[in-house]
Amino acid sequence: MLYKSTRSQAAATHSAAQIIKQGLAADGGLFVPEKIPSLTMHEIEALCHESYPVRAAKILAKFLSDYTYEELLADCEAAYNASSFVGGAAPLVNLDGNKEILELWHGPTAAFKDMALQIMPRLLSRALKKTGEERTALILVATSGDTGKAALEGYKDIEGIKIMVFYPVDGVSRVQKLQMATQMGDNVNVCAIEGNFDDAQTGVKVIFGDDTMVQKLNENGYFFSSANSINWGRLAPQIVYYVSAYCDLLTEGKCHAGDPFNVCVPTGNFGNIFAAYIAKLMGLPINKLICASNANNILTDFLRTGTYDRNRDFYLTMSPSMDILISSNLERLLYFTAGSEKTADYMKRLNTNGVYHVDADVFAKLSENFVGYFADEETTANTICNCWEQYGYLADTHTAVAISAAEQYIKESGDMLPMVIDSTASPYKFANNVYRAVTKNEPESDLAALDALAEATSTAIPYPLCGLAQRKVRFDKVVAKEEMAAAVLEYLGIE
Ligand SMILES: *Cc1c(COP(=O)(O)O)cnc(C)c1O
Repeated sequence: MLYKSTRSQAAATHSAAQIIKQGLAADGGLFVPEKIPSLTMHEIEALCHESYPVRAAKILAKFLSDYTYEELLADCEAAYNASSFVGGAAPLVNLDGNKEILELWHGPTAAFKDMALQIMPRLLSRALKKTGEERTALILVATSGDTGKAALEGYKDIEGIKIMVFYPVDGVSRVQKLQMATQMGDNVNVCAIEGNFDDAQTGVKVIFGDDTMVQKLNENGYFFSSANSINWGRLAPQIVYYVSAYCDLLTEGKCHAGDPFNVCVPTGNFGNIFAAYIAKLMGLPINKLICASNANNILTDFLRTGTYDRNRDFYLTMSPSMDILISSNLERLLYFTAGSEKTADYMKRLNTNGVYHVDADVFAKLSENFVGYFADEETTANTICNCWEQYGYLADTHTAVAISAAEQYIKESGDMLPMVIDSTASPYKFANNVYRAVTKNEPESDLAALDALAEATSTAIPYPLCGLAQRKVRFDKVVAKEEMAAAVLEYLGIE
């Protein structure tokens, strides 16, 4: 299986190991597989009897053909082991009737980013060996909170790789700050910057593009790499849990082999829902993909009108991981529906004017597969409260957006197929807002909200968030945004 850029008409030339190491294509496009491998109903039925790591290794093997099945199985078993994914890697929990919640947050940081970031570093470590790389990869991450912690946990103690995370000193919650500052591992570093998230992100981009830095690193046996969500190595592992969810529906007798089902995904960068679309192209019988957005509903508008227009207000919401105006992975969907020439044109328009319109035939194809709904802040809070009161299910803010979208879709369409709704974070990850929605009270603080929520709902705080305040702080450095490059050199011990 070879890979090519979404913006190029040239034949595919890159191996999986090469694109996992490289991340982004040289022309600015995203890497995509040259063809979509098939998954037969017979294969799906066989997977029903397998563990999550085996399901994952078998699906990944179809895309990562330069990795052996044994390598993939070893990595999947290490990534999705029962002590880091307590309660299972991706359990399906019934919400009500035909609505099922796919919980993707049982990993070491209590958010769904773990599903990809626990396995991708292992794939990268092997990619370095497979491509004959002798230098150490330095992963630089700018984070607004969740990705940084998930990346630290994923890359911790992985051979051939070091990781350094920058976060805005006043731009993350107290819980997120503590999670990062207390990170364990010998190959990790965390640094706060005086500035906002954009400053952190711009700073990282400047360092990546700074020839003097690149050369200095090279002379000392290092090179820069990124853990960005547009890396195919993060996307491929996300295909697995859609297949796994269907296996669980079959095993529980909620579907017969071949019966269709719907999927609803709380969407930000469009990676998670795109992985579901790939599963559908492979042969998984998904009927509709419901794209759920918060008040930043650019994708809802796009899926309803065919116009993508980023010239609009940006809102900070209680589901911050979905506060996005440019959904990078949408480019991959455009490639598979419109081809590389049109995709390159749309992306050029997006960069110059911030807006593009897809052609009627492209829009028709998109509408066949996708529908968009959104929930504003009030609707999100009400959904959290209703789910708790009606079903005894405690949903996080992002998950609540998806539950609301699924309910809107069912009401409008009358479609009663089984509905798998992604739950992307533990309610304790966003305990303050969940506590507010459920009790209508104000928590004393971010950190106090964890215990308060546990007490109010008699539910348990997941292990990654237990006893945070008691853990030893390892990283407390704060630098000016102009000093990020110096902080990198200092971490690596380079003059
Ligand atoms: C990253 C994230 C999302 C959005 O996922 P995309 O793949 O970017 O669409 C949704 N919810 C949570 C909790 C996240 O961390």
